[in-house]
Amino acid sequence: MRENDGLYRILVRMFTGARVVARGRGAVPVNRSSKMIFKRRSVSLAGWFWLISAALSIMALLVLLRLSFVDWREVRRTEVAVAMIKQLRLGLAAVEMTSRERGPANGVLGADAQSSEALREALAQARERTDQAFAAYAKGFDFIPDPARRQAAKQQMANFQVALRQARGRVDALSALPLSQREAADIKGAVDGMVALVRMLRPVIMVLTDRIQQNLPAVSATAVGALLASELRETTGQLGSLFTPALSHQTPLSEDERMAIAHMRGRIEQLRTLLSARVQIGGVQPAAARAHERLEHDYFGRAEGLIQQMLQAGRTDGHYGLSPAEFAARYVPDMGAIVDVRNALLDESLARGQALRSEQYRTMAVMLTMTGLNIALIAWGLILLHRRVIRPLTHAAQALDAMKHDRCMELRVPNTGDEISAVLDGIAALQAQQRQRADLEAERDKLIERLRVQSSTDFLTALPNRRAFFEAAEAEIARARRHGFGLVLLLLDVDHFKRINDGLGHGAGDLALVSISTVLRQSMRQGDIAARIGGEEFVVLLSHCEREDGLRFAERLRHTVATTPVEVGAGHPPLRMTVSIGLVDTASQGLELDALMKQADRAMYRAKAGGRDRIELAETA
Ligand code: GH3
Ligand code: MG
Ligand code: MG
Repeated sequence: MRENDGLYRILVRMFTGARVVARGRGAVPVNRSSKMIFKRRSVSLAGWFWLISAALSIMALLVLLRLSFVDWREVRRTEVAVAMIKQLRLGLAAVEMTSRERGPANGVLGADAQSSEALREALAQARERTDQAFAAYAKGFDFIPDPARRQAAKQQMANFQVALRQARGRVDALSALPLSQREAADIKGAVDGMVALVRMLRPVIMVLTDRIQQNLPAVSATAVGALLASELRETTGQLGSLFTPALSHQTPLSEDERMAIAHMRGRIEQLRTLLSARVQIGGVQPAAARAHERLEHDYFGRAEGLIQQMLQAGRTDGHYGLSPAEFAARYVPDMGAIVDVRNALLDESLARGQALRSEQYRTMAVMLTMTGLNIALIAWGLILLHRRVIRPLTHAAQALDAMKHDRCMELRVPNTGDEISAVLDGIAALQAQQRQRADLEAERDKLIERLRVQSSTDFLTALPNRRAFFEAAEAEIARARRHGFGLVLLLLDVDHFKRINDGLGHGAGDLALVSISTVLRQSMRQGDIAARIGGEEFVVLLSHCEREDGLRFAERLRHTVATTPVEVGAGHPPLRMTVSIGLVDTASQGLELDALMKQADRAMYRAKAGGRDRIELAETA
């Protein structure tokens, strides 16, 4: 199994939806409850959809192919049978012509050379018809698909042609002799030669009929009936021929001839029974039934009477009162009904075959259309299912997953008005709520930040306010305590500020305060903290600073303020102001903010008291 790990995993995953966990030496599907660990991971709905769709498509295609194949095979069988019925018709016509040729042949054999001119002409015409019938029949061989069978059929036909020529040669040779020199045995031999020809054709015709029956059982009765009629036509013809020698010489029938005639009549009776059975059992069409009635009347009524009459004469004095030609002229027309029966049965076979073929084509067309429609319907259903359920559901799942991770995925809500669109609509609403909530949260955060800044910033100067200063200063003092560096704290108060307010208005006062904040910012280093802690009071905490540096810084500050004029508007001269500064350093006053502030405050008041615009250092405790 180790070699096929990859394939194995894919198969397990496809059919169980489980993921195989590789453990140790090989991939083992294991599930705690049954020694197999399957990490349950069901196949997605879309996965199943494609799997089932593929299976359905393949199955539908197979069904369609199978149905087409079965139907097509049926149609082909019928096609072949119809073609074979046509060929049988040509074959039976050829047999008939061969039989018919015997009539004039017998006539010529029974008449002397001078009186037989018309008979010879009739024989020539009969031979012409036979040849044409065979030519038509032989054409059908070209359409035999199997080369071996085609070749065999053509060979048989060639053999038949040779036999036909020989038989005709014997008739011609014998009829060239004067009538008196023609021996009865020779005439019989010539007649038998013609009879034998028909026997040669029989096997091919039988095989053809068999194959028609196999391919198209529905025409079995009529096709076999046609064959029987053909056989009857041949046998009745032969019966007539049996009288030729006796009629030629107007002699009684010999014992052999009587036996042969009795045998032939027995066979005719047999064929009559068989044919009647076919016609009745087969439930044939009116045309064939009528022809059969005529057959019974013409041949088994009239012609049979003639035969009886001839037999009577043959048994007694041999005065038949008819020459062979005259006999034929009365006997042969009554055989016409046999051929009519044969033709009617063949027509019926062909009509049945063609009707069946049309029916089969129709059935096939209906079946294929229905199956095609079925497949189209399945395909349409699958497409619909995919478009309206699977795809939107997949999107919905992705959108929900995105929401779970606080992302927002764009979701297209179909306006199909069905359950799925309702689900997607719901998700879209949730997304909108999520977006709204996110916007509100962002706004709230901004507000909080603004409040935070506002609560720690002086709105006029944007310097940290008193509260922010105390927070920052405590932190800085803690750091100083930890790291042992010095700090200096300066407290500034604008001198006579009330006068500015009173003299120039509160606006000018505000401008003065902003100006001081600007000076403070520009003077400070990074790490220093400046803040406005009262009306016109500011504080500066210098980090990493000792007293001397602090004093220098304070002096610079005082000087800058005193020398920086403040523009208070058109019509007023720039304002000048001074500040008093109280200074305290941690090296001498310790690291307590409150104490430092108090010290600086005192120092600042001393500066006020001392005349303002000056710096006072806190007194050492
Ligand atoms: P001294 O030299 O003794 O400090 O005199 P002074 O006039 O500055 O006295 P004091 O400190 O008592 O007066 C402060 C004045 O500052 C009072 C108040 O009207 C004014 N003031 C406080 N805050 C503001 C402010 O935000 N803007 C303006 N324009 N004036 C303010
Ligand atoms: Mg003051
Ligand atoms: Mg003041």
